[in-house]
Amino acid sequence: MNGPNPELMCLIGAEQVRETEASISPFDRGYLFADGIYEVIAILDGKLIDAERHWARLQRSCAEIDLPLPMPIEELKQAILGLVETNNVTEGRVYFQVTRGVAERDFAFPDDPQPQLFAFTRQVPVADTASSRKGIKAITVEDLRWKRRDIKSIALLPQTMAKQAAKKAGAGEAIMVEDGLITEGSSSTIHMIKDDVLVTRMLTREVLPGVTRATVFDVAREQGIEIQERAFSVEEALAADELFLTSASALVQGIVELDGHTIADGKVGVMTDRLRELYIEVGLKA
Ligand code: PMP
Repeated sequence: MNGPNPELMCLIGAEQVRETEASISPFDRGYLFADGIYEVIAILDGKLIDAERHWARLQRSCAEIDLPLPMPIEELKQAILGLVETNNVTEGRVYFQVTRGVAERDFAFPDDPQPQLFAFTRQVPVADTASSRKGIKAITVEDLRWKRRDIKSIALLPQTMAKQAAKKAGAGEAIMVEDGLITEGSSSTIHMIKDDVLVTRMLTREVLPGVTRATVFDVAREQGIEIQERAFSVEEALAADELFLTSASALVQGIVELDGHTIADGKVGVMTDRLRELYIEVGLKA
């Protein structure tokens, strides 16, 4: 990925525009205040995975910040699906965001907002990647974010800093920690398996309600796997039988090293592998 691609279209509002020709006003509140909401959906076999849960979360996040959608949700879905089709994406992802649009620069919301939609797609391997086969390294960082992390805001500076720290350390993800407890990854939900139990932090305002998390729970329940929704510490994660993350970008991905310590035998765990396989299977069937 290297910025705008002249061969691809993107969405500015409902309109498909060549990426290299797309522009928005610097007066857009997304640019001035990071006043907006985003979503990322994985694409496999040309199909949007877990789309219903992503549309629902978009609507919820927007409602929480009083941000109207720029068009009825059905039209927004059709615009996104149309873009995926135009760009012929068979495997990869679609990113989309709604911002509060152009207005006079004033902290309070405009009375007559003109919300803006922007979307783009990328064709990238999702189902079979080296990271999913071998697992990734992760580091822990302090969680520096605000108090409404359940809202999928485009204000991501703490997460970019966390990811940069991971990159510098040669790791694939930064796991954020608050009061000694893991909140979530910089762009993922963190889970562990201990004594055959799937342990994942409960949903509160401290974390994003992961879409992949929800579907992995469905899959785990079908497999008869016990789920405990509770916060867990870095020490517990280090002593886990399996540690993994979930996200629309990585699906289910094993974490084999944390802060330089090997997790279990240093290989992607059996249950992690199984959950990944089943997640993909369910996603393709839906
Ligand atoms: N937490 C955070 C902070 C994230 O950015 C993401 C990815 N958007 C997730 C969790 C995982 O959510 P999802 O499974 O819906 O991609």
